[in-house]
Parts: sequence; C-alpha cells; structure tokens
Amino acid sequence: MRVPVFTHPSCLKHDPGSGHPETSARLQAVLSRLRTEPAVTLRESAPASIAALTPVHPDSYLATIEEMSERGGGALFLDTVLSRDSWDAALGGAGAVLAATDHAAEGKGHAFAAIRPPGHHALAGKGMGFCLVNNVVVAARRAQAAGRQRVLIIDWDVHHGNGTQALVETDPSIRYVSLHQYPWYPGTGAADERGVGNIFNVPRGPGKPASLYVGDLWAGIVAATMNWAPDVVFISAGFDAMKGDPLGGFTLEPEHYADWTTRLRTHLPSTPIVGLMEGGYAPQRLAEGVASHVRALA
Ligand SMILES: [Zn+2]
Repeated sequence: MRVPVFTHPSCLKHDPGSGHPETSARLQAVLSRLRTEPAVTLRESAPASIAALTPVHPDSYLATIEEMSERGGGALFLDTVLSRDSWDAALGGAGAVLAATDHAAEGKGHAFAAIRPPGHHALAGKGMGFCLVNNVVVAARRAQAAGRQRVLIIDWDVHHGNGTQALVETDPSIRYVSLHQYPWYPGTGAADERGVGNIFNVPRGPGKPASLYVGDLWAGIVAATMNWAPDVVFISAGFDAMKGDPLGGFTLEPEHYADWTTRLRTHLPSTPIVGLMEGGYAPQRLAEGVASHVRALA
C-alpha cells in the first residue's frame, strides 16, 4: 500500500534566522527524498483552524504567536524564534498532522506528516526548543474526538518531549513512551517521572551501540501496551538520534526506524500509526531516516 505523507508549503517559510539548526533545508531534503519513493503519495493539506489547537493551547498564547509573526517576528523564548511566516507555518504544520490523523482515525491506514517547526517541547502556554504548537497532543485530542480514546504516543526524538509529557501526564487515556538522551536538553525525562502511571521514560546516555537504544525503546513500548491496547499510535518522529546529528549523541541508522515501525505493526496489527516530524538536524540523514520509517508504514 502507498502511504500518504501530508505537508503544507508554509512549513518551508518559517525562518528562525541564519545559523539556526532548524532550517527549511531540513524539510526540503525530506520532501525531495520522498518524491523519489514509490511507496509514498505526497499530499498538501489545509491549514489547521485555531479551534483545532485550543484543546491544547490557550487562545492568548496562540494570539501571541500570530501577533509576533504579523509584526515580522522575534524571539518567542530563547532560541525559539519567529519570522513573519511562523504563524502560517504553525497552522500549516498542524493542519498536515490533523489530515494524517483524520486519515488514520477514519480507518484508511497509516500516515505521516512531513512538517516543521517541530512540536514536542511546546507547553500549553509557552513555546520552547524550536517548537510552537505541540502537534502530537493536538493530534491525540483530535483522534479522541473521533472516538479513538486510548492513544499511545511514542517519541524517538533524541530529546525528551517535555511539552508532551506535561500536557498528558495527568491523563490515563494517553500513554507516552520516550527514548531520549539524558541528561540532555531539556533536562526532563527521568525514569521516575511516571505521571499517573502513563509515562514511560527511557533515558539513556550517548554513544552506546544502536542495538541498546533499539531494544530499550522497544521494551518501553511493550511495557506501555501490557494489558492496554491503544486505538491509535502517534510517533513523535525526530531523527536527531541518528549517528552524527549535531544536536545529539546517539548512534542510530535509518534501518533502525524501519525496525521499530515493523515491530509496531506486528505488535499492534489493527492499530493505525501516524508519524510526524520532530527534530533531525543533518538534513540528508533526516531525509533517509524519514524514508526508512515511511517505507515501513507501506
Ligand atoms: Zn530533538
């Protein structure tokens, strides 16, 4: 089966400034690579409505992003920088994620969203870590509204998704499993942060054999799905855990993302999987990681 990959052209216009690692070249590389992939159908989605974001973010925070962008941009928080097109990029990216979510929630199969900026560091009322809108939690709420109550979020970005954890840690209907470098940015993600028993953190040091990271995240997924069958799976799919990434020290290769994806499909054979782009700061490596994951969804 061909896998739909949803995207939005505004995602390419967000510009956090020269020298910033979260560049449009990242998404350009991914889209160029996916255009050569026979298993992929690229689709342009509509931008998200503000109403789709308000289950996660207060209106006042969203208005701040919109107004700062209209004024030409500026630093929202430290290295989380807006340009004139950042609000449109946030809505475009969230829209692609929602289109992928709707595809999955309607029982049409797996999907992927090729987007930027990333989302898993964004808190309800505060952007950080290059993230403006917490796309994966927006998607989880949309899936729940469509009747898919039990949501599993897997986060294999090299950084802990502090925003995602903060947004779901009191909600037993969502389980969150994260493999991440630790201690490392953003500082959260210790194994004893368990939420209401729904948080499964797998913190690991850098430079270990890839097989250790692969096996340990998988063990976390198995633990999270013990006697608990999700209705949908979201993957906060960062690819900065690959060897050589400038913002991480893990050692993964493209085939490891296919390995996890294939194992997931075997483990949860009737559950739709939606991947969405998070980090990954070596554009060609990011593109190869995405292609490997998406091919395994086909
Ligand atoms: Zn990251």
